[in-house]
Amino acid sequence: MRLTAQLTPHLRVMRGTERRPPRCVALLGDIGHAVRCTIHPQRASVCRGFAPSWEDGERNPRCDAARAGHGLSPLTPEDWRDPGAPLRSPGVPGVPRAA
Ligand code: SF4
Repeated sequence: MRLTAQLTPHLRVMRGTERRPPRCVALLGDIGHAVRCTIHPQRASVCRGFAPSWEDGERNPRCDAARAGHGLSPLTPEDWRDPGAPLRSPGVPGVPRAA
C-alpha cells in the first residue's frame, strides 16, 4: 500500500491526512483507546517535529486541538510525570509509548 499521496505538484503527505476528517494510513487502533504509528521509526519529518503537549514542558495548541477534535481532553504536565514508571502513552493506560 502506498503510504503517501500527492497534495500539490511539490508536496506529498501521509495518505489519509489530506482528507476530512484526516486519518493517516499508518495509524493503527482506535483513537481515544489505543493507537500507535506503525511506521514510527520511519515516520515523516513533520511527524517527528510534532511534540505532544507538555512532552517537552510546553503546551502545543495544535495537539490540544487535534485531541479535542476526537473528544479527548488536552494532555497535562501530570501526564508526563512519573519518573519511576516505564514510558506510557498519556491518556492511554497500558499502551507503551513508542521510542
Ligand atoms: S506519526 Fe505515524 S501515524 Fe501519525 S501521522 Fe505520522 S506517520 Fe501517520
